[in-house]
Amino acid sequence: MKRKQKTGTKEISLISYLVLCIVTNVLIEQNSLFCSEIVKIPVIYNEGYDFKFSDDLKKAHPLDGEKYSKIINSLKDEINTLSDNNFIDPEEEITTKELLTVHSEDYLVNSLKNKSTIASIACVKELEDCDIDFLEEKLLKPMRWATKGTIVAAEMAVRYGWAINVGGGYHHAKKTTGEGFCFYRDIPLACLKILQQDSTTKILIVDLDAHQGNGNALFLEENSTLQDNIAIFDIYNDTIYPSDQEKRAKHIKFNYPASKNFEADKGRWKDDSAYYGILQNELKEAICDFQPTHIIYNAGSDIYELDILGGFGISQDGIITRDEWVFWYARKYNIPITMVLSGGYHEDSYKIVGNSILNLHEKGLICLDPQKIEEYTQTRMDKKNNNNQFNIPPPPIPKKKENNNNGKSSGFSGIQKTFIGAAGGIFACIVIYCLVYKINPMTALKKLFNKQTT
Ligand SMILES: [Zn+2]
Repeated sequence: MKRKQKTGTKEISLISYLVLCIVTNVLIEQNSLFCSEIVKIPVIYNEGYDFKFSDDLKKAHPLDGEKYSKIINSLKDEINTLSDNNFIDPEEEITTKELLTVHSEDYLVNSLKNKSTIASIACVKELEDCDIDFLEEKLLKPMRWATKGTIVAAEMAVRYGWAINVGGGYHHAKKTTGEGFCFYRDIPLACLKILQQDSTTKILIVDLDAHQGNGNALFLEENSTLQDNIAIFDIYNDTIYPSDQEKRAKHIKFNYPASKNFEADKGRWKDDSAYYGILQNELKEAICDFQPTHIIYNAGSDIYELDILGGFGISQDGIITRDEWVFWYARKYNIPITMVLSGGYHEDSYKIVGNSILNLHEKGLICLDPQKIEEYTQTRMDKKNNNNQFNIPPPPIPKKKENNNNGKSSGFSGIQKTFIGAAGGIFACIVIYCLVYKINPMTALKKLFNKQTT
């Protein structure tokens, strides 16, 4: 009897020990045993954002499907105090029920089960050969994660004064269909969420992606009662997709098709300075006119001069300065700002976006440091303090390029330029010498040549 009791105690001790180990492990993994609370910064991300395509499919579209995780890694590399736990996780994909507020049931339930439709929306013909479960898992699911991320970002921007969703910006998606690699209407969903929480909010969608945000414009056309609450500011290359842009432009309150405005030629800006003229002046006008209380910034990096789809001519530094201008205005006028990534199809897109977010941090327009975010947010959200103490200098305006050659360099190096200048100078001296002494330049050259050879 005694032996049996002893064995029982041993078993209970062993089980208790195992349970303790499991609980401890779970707590350590969640970082909640030794840290009372993990500090969050309003950068929204989940590893489900990446499109993990096969190598063959990667070749079929210029988008770097893994740029989202690369951006997050570049931020962690530069900010020592930043780790995965500090980013805000949307925690779930957007649900069909939520999507039904901006999409038709037929589109969600039937069209998005059709491989040809999906391939056509993504503009990747090769997707027609993929299994529907593969497309659902590798393409649609990441977009549903990022769609939820845009809504969470909008909520966080109200709390922190700013938020960045490292994805989203599907500004071509429509109620009954998707197009231009956009499946879900994340920005309209975010607008509805903001208005649900405060119906007096005035939202300015600042769309600086290279393409016109025709899907968002159509959303306003379909919901005319929202036009007092939502307005669009859009600078875009009107010589490229989408094809319905003229119709949609009617619902873009601040509409700037590049080829019809300012110094753009066939949609391509002649240099960065022309772009900033319009951005700096017109965005300020739009803010003063519409008086927004929330900005949703669709920050497509496909305006990059080497982007294969955008057809704009803006440099990497130019894109960084562009983002700085938008955040600077938001900060200056105390307007919460939600940024989403939208397009960007060059292999360096993740570097440009990562560097731009880091630049905003360095300029004090956002804060990526978990150790300083609380103090930063308190200062930023204290309107009284803000009005008196806004002292961040405006971003630089890039200098006008001397040669107008669509943003490309002349092709001559510094040494070559010096050599050409020197040769030109010598030639001018010879001409002046001949004119003064009334010598025929050809006779002088012949004499010189004969002297040397004899
Ligand atoms: Zn675009």
